[in-house]
Amino acid sequence: MTVLVRSGVGPLCAVARAAIPSIWRGKYFSSGNEPAENNPVTPMLRHLMYKIKSTGPITVAEYMKEVLTNPAKGYYVYRDMLGKQGDFITSPEISQIFGELLGIWFISEWMATGKSTAFQLVELGPGRGTLVGDILRVFTQLGSVLKNCDISVHLVEVSQKLSEIQALTLTEEKVPLERNAGSPVYMKGVTKSGIPISWYRHLHDVPKGYSFYLAHEFFDVLPVHKFQKTPQGWREVFIDIDPQVSDKLRFVLAPSATPAEAFIQHDETRDHVEVCPDAGVIIEELSQRIALTGGAALVADYGHDGTKTDTFRGFCGHKLHDVLIAPGTADLTADVDFSYLRRMAQGKVASLGPIKQHTFLKNMGIDVRLKVLLDKSNEPSVRQQLLQGYDMLMNPKKMGERFNFFALLPHERLEGGRHQRNARQSKPFASLVAGFSELAWQ
Ligand code: SAH
Repeated sequence: MTVLVRSGVGPLCAVARAAIPSIWRGKYFSSGNEPAENNPVTPMLRHLMYKIKSTGPITVAEYMKEVLTNPAKGYYVYRDMLGKQGDFITSPEISQIFGELLGIWFISEWMATGKSTAFQLVELGPGRGTLVGDILRVFTQLGSVLKNCDISVHLVEVSQKLSEIQALTLTEEKVPLERNAGSPVYMKGVTKSGIPISWYRHLHDVPKGYSFYLAHEFFDVLPVHKFQKTPQGWREVFIDIDPQVSDKLRFVLAPSATPAEAFIQHDETRDHVEVCPDAGVIIEELSQRIALTGGAALVADYGHDGTKTDTFRGFCGHKLHDVLIAPGTADLTADVDFSYLRRMAQGKVASLGPIKQHTFLKNMGIDVRLKVLLDKSNEPSVRQQLLQGYDMLMNPKKMGERFNFFALLPHERLEGGRHQRNARQSKPFASLVAGFSELAWQ
């Protein structure tokens, strides 16, 4: 690893990135109580009101799922919401160094597990394809290390619009894309560096095989159920039509217990909780795959370790947005509960983290990489952008402490893995995994 990082990976000069807005999605926002002075009747609001009138109030999870990924009107399906002109910005859109260090993490894991002759790089929710593009650039730069390895890229994406942008960013335009909307593999092509690339809507359609999985700001958009403790026990929060104001939605409590209550821990001490069964299903699938065929998963997101209560919030134009106003025009998100992800992986694979983004990136050598890029760049605006990007990613008051890294690895990957089964994290063994402890530089 020393040689790889010291010689500098990636292009000599920096890659241009968007100007950084002052707010990012990780910011906490308690929603639902804002005045409704601006509540346009969007097609999604009309659709939801019709649905509620026909079959009754809907869970917050159903609301999130409809608003974000409804195939006809979903927020994620037909727009590019990322970047300065969009609603929020993410780490890979801020700095190329982020993706480069993640690329090094995957190569480090590939080397540590015996340099298999092939691997799949699988990304869940790839946005504009910027992150995987930065990772693939590192793979190209380290071609001599990876030269005998067959790599393929697999993207799990529900958005038609974003998958088109990903294809533009990543693929070689001279090789026409194969499209088949009816197939689980709805698009296929070849990346600019000649690697086969395929698109899927669901993880379970990605071929099983030795894989490295990546999910950056993906789990936070999965639908959550919300619960409130009452004298009668846990009650689920639903969304109903406000009888006082026309064309307005409101939160209501279910009159009796609902099935999703089964996801709440028996010893839960909080009085409000959010649970995300879809995240559990995906973590179980990742864990089964990694236990069966090897590889690793790296999850990065804002979140907590089973401590926060009300994190469901909206973003529009880089501003916090009431989740019930103008649905379909704003992003909806909730903090990831890493304690739940860990429970879902337990017994199948080992997990590491969550650890703070600034610790992970520091351990991965962000300071060395920044210095290499600064030394190579004479352009003052590029240098300023690199420094601003570093501050945004690393500053504890910005993304540095709000975002976390979490990994799933086969038990065998961690020395003495057998003894670690069901254990949360053990420092001596965790120290073998890059990012979760300092890289050895000598
Ligand atoms: N990882 C990117 C984008 C994060 S935004 C980045 O960090 O820049 C969330 C991404 O997840 C988008 O690409 C969105 O279209 C995708 N997405 C949302 N819900 C999804 C689902 N249920 N299945 C697959 N992809 C989904």
